[in-house]
Amino acid sequence: AKNLGRDRHEVFNEDMRTHSVSQFQLEMELRRAGEGEQFQLYYQPIIDLVSGEIAGFEALIRWQHPERGTVPPNDFIGIAEDTGIILTMGDWILDEACRQIRQWQQLFPKVNPLFIGVNLSSRQFVQQDLATTIASVVQEHQIDPRGLKLELTESVAMEDVDSAILQLLKLKNRGLHISLDDFGTGYSSLSYLHRLPIDSLKIDKSFVDRMEIISENADIVGTIVSLGHRLKLDIIAEGVETMAQARLLKQLECQYAQGYFFAKPLPREAAAQLLIQDKHW
Ligand code: C2E
Ligand code: CA
Ligand code: CA
Ligand code: CA
Repeated sequence: AKNLGRDRHEVFNEDMRTHSVSQFQLEMELRRAGEGEQFQLYYQPIIDLVSGEIAGFEALIRWQHPERGTVPPNDFIGIAEDTGIILTMGDWILDEACRQIRQWQQLFPKVNPLFIGVNLSSRQFVQQDLATTIASVVQEHQIDPRGLKLELTESVAMEDVDSAILQLLKLKNRGLHISLDDFGTGYSSLSYLHRLPIDSLKIDKSFVDRMEIISENADIVGTIVSLGHRLKLDIIAEGVETMAQARLLKQLECQYAQGYFFAKPLPREAAAQLLIQDKHW
């Protein structure tokens, strides 16, 4: 993938450099982390702005390093991709997310069942057997496949549009839902959008930022929302940090939103607490 250089660079952030972690050492530590159960999934609620209820969650991986504390995904996903570790990690993420969705759907039944969004890396997305693999995890946990939403970034989908369409069709045939992540940041020609068999668009945080102050940002968000509606897609705004943004999004008829204004990504017990309280915004 073409962004490997950037990801590799991100591995050597200030914190790591002071610990003089070589790429090789980090790779060893990542492998050990997988065996030693140092990974955890956090869950960030996605709010239905019409009802104010939690519609679902996005699963976000966290690495609890025994010495360095919590390592953010941007510091290790790149190297996990370079080394292929992302494939075993990705299998674990899918398994864990499916187990969680099964439990939450049973404990908190809703008219529109709760879902969990799972991020797919480019390395996973190009696997020939991806749809088969995911379908068997879904089957094993006996969940409705619509409870799992696969998040694929716009730039990964656009790298090779024709192959992406074929892969997405295989996933759709298994009843899985697809979200196009970080929408608006890739260099996609809008003319490709209608060809992609997807269910929702996630508007990138960069457009939501200061949309209550900069009218151009609000205009872009409004345009993406109407385009999405014409294509019958659900629209989710990411990175919502203020009440003004949440209100404006609702006015613009963006139905779903996610961000620190509602809740940060939470460990599963804390996420479950929000469901127990039947928290509304
Ligand atoms: P992403 O998929 O775009 O995830 C959204 C990121 O925005 C998350 O960062 C989330 O914590 C953060 N965020 C959510 N709301 C707000 C907000 O209101 N303000 C700000 N400033 N940030 C907000 P996180 O968890 O650090 O993840 C970063 C990236 O790492 C993700 O971007 C995704 O590309 C990747 N990643 C995370 N978990 C996974 C995973 O399980 N698998 C794969 N393949 N990639 C993952
Ligand atoms: Ca995502
Ligand atoms: Ca995103
Ligand atoms: Ca992102």
